[in-house]
Amino acid sequence: MLIIIVYGTTKYYNFVPAPQPVRRRKPLTMIPQYDLEKIKYGIDRGTWEKAVDLYESGKVKNFRDTGFTFTADVQGTHFYKVIVSPKSYSDGNCTCYLGENGTLCKHMIVAAIYALKKGKPLTDEERTQHNEIKFSSKIGNITQDQLNLSKAEIFGAMRYIKAYSGPSRIWFAYQDSLTEGCNRLASIFSSLPANRPTANLIIKTILRLDRKLTTGGVDDSDGTVGGLIEEAVGLLIEYAKADHECVKEFESLKGKETCFGWEEPLLKFL
Ligand SMILES: [Zn+2]
Repeated sequence: MLIIIVYGTTKYYNFVPAPQPVRRRKPLTMIPQYDLEKIKYGIDRGTWEKAVDLYESGKVKNFRDTGFTFTADVQGTHFYKVIVSPKSYSDGNCTCYLGENGTLCKHMIVAAIYALKKGKPLTDEERTQHNEIKFSSKIGNITQDQLNLSKAEIFGAMRYIKAYSGPSRIWFAYQDSLTEGCNRLASIFSSLPANRPTANLIIKTILRLDRKLTTGGVDDSDGTVGGLIEEAVGLLIEYAKADHECVKEFESLKGKETCFGWEEPLLKFL
């Protein structure tokens, strides 16, 4: 049976509204638009390691999600007031000397880590930055699926390494993008096993980087991309020593004119 109660017709005289309970604000949970990987690829090793130390020794106090920004007090030599944006870990400020001078400091990084991990422990993988190319020491086959995944990741990383056409005021943002792209590539290369298909993939990638430097409008005045190419050549030398079959891939470099002759040490293997 349906009962409909209509309140509209009731008359209230001397009506005193009952006190309303104070509405508690819903706890805010902004989700950062970055992750630990993004932070690790974007900053140098020293800053990352110091921020991890601060995080793991519980130096982040009074962390708050204000609905607009994350705020925290970070204990260093003094207590520093830190604000970090949920949109970008490098947007915000800190009351330390570096922060006051507009430099991204470890206190902002640790606040961003806290925003992501909420005080929970970091795993070994999360703690580790892979911004330098290191040979994985793995030799042997790679499946087509794994190779395709690496190709997809390289494609994504290459998008950070783009031509520069902007005004000088966005120069630093541009350099940061090159750094992030190169760090992503370093991480991908370091995860690969040594074999012909992976040697081929690395050579193709550094040839593409070379083209970006020579005719693609990439401004590498800081030597970030050039440095990555050199590291990748070092890795290919390790590959050649670990699996001589890889040397066959070096053939494709014969007669190539590269931007700084980086292929020379590889041609010596032929
Ligand atoms: Zn600071």
